[in-house]
Amino acid sequence: MNAMSAVRSSDSSSLPECQSVAAEMSALMAELYPICRSITGDGLRQSLRILQRVVPMELHEVASGTQVFDWIVPDEWNVRDAYVKNAGGEKVIDFQASNLHLLNYSVPIHQTMSLAQLVPHLYSLSAQPDWIPYRTSYYNRDWGFCVSHRTLQSLPDSEYEVYIDSSLEPGYMTYGEYCLSGETRDEVLISCHCCHPSLANDNLSGMVVAAMLAQQLSQRPRRLTYRFLFIPGTIGSITWLALNEPQITNIKHGLVVTCVGDPGKFTYKKSRSGNAEIDRAVKLILAHLGQEYEIVDFSPYGYDERQYCSLGFNLPVGSLTRTPNGRYPEYHTSADNLDLVQPDSLEQSLRTYLAVLDVLENNKTYTNTNPKCEPQLGRRGLYTAIGGGSDAPTRQMALLWVLNMSDGQHSLVDIAERSGLAFGHIAEAASALLGADLLREQMDGSVAEQPR
Ligand code: ZN
Repeated sequence: MNAMSAVRSSDSSSLPECQSVAAEMSALMAELYPICRSITGDGLRQSLRILQRVVPMELHEVASGTQVFDWIVPDEWNVRDAYVKNAGGEKVIDFQASNLHLLNYSVPIHQTMSLAQLVPHLYSLSAQPDWIPYRTSYYNRDWGFCVSHRTLQSLPDSEYEVYIDSSLEPGYMTYGEYCLSGETRDEVLISCHCCHPSLANDNLSGMVVAAMLAQQLSQRPRRLTYRFLFIPGTIGSITWLALNEPQITNIKHGLVVTCVGDPGKFTYKKSRSGNAEIDRAVKLILAHLGQEYEIVDFSPYGYDERQYCSLGFNLPVGSLTRTPNGRYPEYHTSADNLDLVQPDSLEQSLRTYLAVLDVLENNKTYTNTNPKCEPQLGRRGLYTAIGGGSDAPTRQMALLWVLNMSDGQHSLVDIAERSGLAFGHIAEAASALLGADLLREQMDGSVAEQPR
């Protein structure tokens, strides 16, 4: 392996034709947005098939009734139509206008009833009277409608025809999986939930960024293996963990991708251990973005990191979002729509994920072959390589830090943290020093393994 291929250049997180990548992600979001998704059913299947155009994932179908740890894969839910008509025959609530109007997983019903009988089945938000809330009833058989508070208040005391043409019967739960093998079996798990209906940031943005991430990684050399999961929230990750327990030891790093399209600052929720390599890699990238960001400790709430970081698995999986769940007013309402998601935010999220993965790819440990005093860098052309640009002092410091700390014990992440320099500069310095035979790579054993 030559020096240049041993460590990829510091700007490998850049995207080719990033304008078209942002446009492609926005177009995918617009195509997926109207589909009524749930934790099972044809909307979920259809969405995954659309994403198969970007990432050739395999679709798995798990039968209803399958026991997965303490849970059971539920019956499959499909919906064709739903409405509430007033006494005059006008639709006052219409699933065709927004799939959020229907309580997700509603059982079928066709009945005429009074307003007093209907109201206990209506959900609204008095604080945001124009927005439709998003509600589900996956594990408690029920029916209901979600409406704006203004609509609720406008309903006269009268008779209403309630119609839900849905089915809830034994079928399958669908999920998508895509494995991109690398030189080693060490895996990075990238997981996103795909079960929300017309909600854009949570979590169409995650589905689209994850799909594009897979596409970008498939075109790059890979030391690590990447496993992408496109799954319904909670039951999907529980099912995948239950069905794949023997191979879980391969997972060395992971990220749950969600809420990555809004214009808010990046927020990283650490893995349960809090100091895993993924936690350190994300922190190094966010610290050098030149933007405000927030790092929060793990808590057993949120998205599928709850399952990956459950006590019995305790996987090194964090979650990199922009504004996280529950922290933006539009969350789980009809206002989490395509207007909330910005192409620039999607594109920057994708670039940031690629930069984090680049740290994991290049976080190697080296031994300085000339440890007694500094080697004469000028004689080896290393000062010339630095050039006279404005970042020349930083690049020189990176060379000196890598030489000083490469004792076969400290990784490039250790050196980036200690020096305060960007990982890209440290990796670039290591590449140059390796090319000048001033470093020798410390093999940890896993690199020599054969890919599956
Ligand atoms: Zn959600």
